[in-house]
Amino acid sequence: MTVGTVVIVGSGASGVALALSLLERGRKVLMLDVGREVVRADHPDLAFPAWRRSLADPAETLLGRSGEALVLPDHDGEYYGFPPAKKIIFEGLEGFDWVADGFAPLLSFARGGLAEAWTGGSYAFTPEELEGFPFPADEMGEAYEAVASEIGISGAEDDLSEVFPHPAHPLPPVEADAHTTRLLARYDLARETLRRKESCVLGRARLAVLTRDRGERKACTRLGRCLWGCPRGALYTPSWGLARCQERDGFTYRPGIRVLRIEATDGGDVRRLHLRPVDGGADEVLEVETVVLAAGTLATADIVLRSLAGVGVDRLPGLMDNRQVLVPFVSPGRLGKGFEPESYQYHQLAMVIEPGGGARQIHALITTLKTAMIHPVVQSLPIGLKGALRLFRDLHGALGLVNVNFADERRDESFVALEDLGGTATLRVHYEPPPLERTRLPAGLRRVRRVLRRLGAFAPRSMAHVRPMGASVHYAGTLPYSANGGDLTLDAAGRLRPFRNLYVADGSALPSLPSKNLTYTLMANAWRVGRLLGD
Ligand SMILES: Cc1cc2nc3c(=O)[nH]c(=O)nc-3n(C[C@H](O)[C@H](O)[C@H](O)COP(=O)(O)OP(=O)(O)OC[C@H]3O[C@@H](n4cnc5c(N)ncnc54)[C@H](O)[C@@H]3O)c2cc1C
Ligand code: SF4
Repeated sequence: MTVGTVVIVGSGASGVALALSLLERGRKVLMLDVGREVVRADHPDLAFPAWRRSLADPAETLLGRSGEALVLPDHDGEYYGFPPAKKIIFEGLEGFDWVADGFAPLLSFARGGLAEAWTGGSYAFTPEELEGFPFPADEMGEAYEAVASEIGISGAEDDLSEVFPHPAHPLPPVEADAHTTRLLARYDLARETLRRKESCVLGRARLAVLTRDRGERKACTRLGRCLWGCPRGALYTPSWGLARCQERDGFTYRPGIRVLRIEATDGGDVRRLHLRPVDGGADEVLEVETVVLAAGTLATADIVLRSLAGVGVDRLPGLMDNRQVLVPFVSPGRLGKGFEPESYQYHQLAMVIEPGGGARQIHALITTLKTAMIHPVVQSLPIGLKGALRLFRDLHGALGLVNVNFADERRDESFVALEDLGGTATLRVHYEPPPLERTRLPAGLRRVRRVLRRLGAFAPRSMAHVRPMGASVHYAGTLPYSANGGDLTLDAAGRLRPFRNLYVADGSALPSLPSKNLTYTLMANAWRVGRLLGD
């Protein structure tokens, strides 16, 4: 390996942002990745109805051979599944064993990681939310802007700008569907009351979706195929960023490799990585100078715990995730109106209750119903599924879903550990909800329902669905930044103490988790770590 090369583990949103930042500064990068390839969607000019007609077997492509992507709602279920083309993103890895309690983990060993399936919500942390980070909020401000200009974030200068200061000049928002437009108009009428009575602000979603062409990636033309993979690259996924890395000098990508563990001297000098080819073959040892772990919070914990098993470290405390509750709603004013299959499918509005932050803050994403989703109202109609589905077609344009996110904090009781189960080193993911959980969820949901009423919508209480912990896939906190030092914490540069040349640049680094999507912050932090390493 060339002298001065930085080894990055993982090609997800974090790893790719880090690599681009290092390459921009002329550093050499070797990226090691399990990296299963996700097939990119084709026919970039066909909107959903025409694309569906073009498919040889639409049922199988859209829903899977046995309809597994069609998730009919029940009280415990989710409201949409993953289509067959995305299954590979979540496929497990032989030899990577895990058990979980109180948590439903989702890991990815795909090229691009979990964000190959994300919904693009990109919300910067405020300076207050960055207070626990051991560096000035301005450093993140610069990194947020750099990431935004790399991936493209659309939105609007509106009431949300005070809560999401970055990017300072977003791309124009995706064109709103009629239901979203109606909710926004109702918000305009109720704005002052909502601010005063509910401490609520609402605006256009901040999305990693291009509304102007940018090189290979083309602007969103409302094809309505987001769930099956955007064929235009309008919706950013890390595989697009990886392709940009591959155009640069000094970048080498090695997929098909699992990093098992790190080998360091007693003085904390990381000298070697132990690697395993995922398709068979002998294990390898790689001599290294500088290593950055960006394998996603859980897989990074696995590597660190395997590396430290000999010195008595078997647990990383502080695992966090956002509790999410799905709140289906109906806008009676839109009953009988059609829905638009040709429209951006995921959330187009976002709202924040208690923008000042803290445990009571709520960050909620509002999605009006499109092609692929089905609403729990179907199952509550007393007319049988067939009749309900027929009626559902008439209701479709009036239905929506709020995805409500709650904040989390590091607690010792929630952890990731490595245990010997039946002779196999197995990752245990254990989560204990915060003591406030029983009171804050109902109180928060009451406020969300009150806001919806002011927006002319009605959310039946019985339909709210508390998702299991882990479902938000906002994992964080196990190797946190700390200004106070301490082994297995990060210094301001992202260096893992007590090592000299081992860095961490994914969700593991976050010392706290506000009630909002974290990936834009993961990318900005990785970018910042890359800048410090590269300069
Ligand atoms: C359906 C869905 C919707 C989402 N929507 C949003 C959203 O709207 N907004 C938002 O902010 N977030 C969202 N998220 C979360 C977001 O996807 C993650 O926060 C983000 O992808 C994390 O990126 P990462 O690079 O840190 O890790 P990962 O995406 O987990 O990437 C890990 C990478 O490491 C590699 N790897 C793992 N272990 C090893 C190993 N031992 N050796 C070598 N390589 C390894 C994998 O191949 C992969 O490339 C969503 C997630 C899902 C699943
Ligand atoms: S609507 Fe979705 S699939 Fe279509 S161009 Fe926009 S982001 Fe891509």
